[in-house]
Amino acid sequence: MKASEGLGRIPELALRKRKRGLAELLPPVTEILRGSLVERYVTCGNPSCKCARGERHGPIWYLTVTLGPGRTTGGIVSEEKVAEVRAWIENYHKLKDHIEKISEINRELLRRERERERKQGRKK
Ligand SMILES: [Zn+2]
Repeated sequence: MKASEGLGRIPELALRKRKRGLAELLPPVTEILRGSLVERYVTCGNPSCKCARGERHGPIWYLTVTLGPGRTTGGIVSEEKVAEVRAWIENYHKLKDHIEKISEINRELLRRERERERKQGRKK
């Protein structure tokens, strides 16, 4: 509720324009991924390896995805895929964010329509 109240002073035409703009800037829905990338530096266990002296191997990239309360999944992401995976994750957040904003605008438009109806005396 609070978020849509923030739209209260914006003219209706501007709201409609804003939601069209948000829709035009949506990332491609096929290029998304929910999760996060984490970077790890690891030791291999070989006592004569440089990693045993503190020079750890890495970065090794992992994708972690939360499936539900206390449930995660994921796996190693190869170095070559990191940039793409990062872009997918950004797209996911952008898509979600824009959808949420469009939804807020539509709620505000609905509210105004109802307000107009009430002023016109068509009570419901
Ligand atoms: Zn090592």
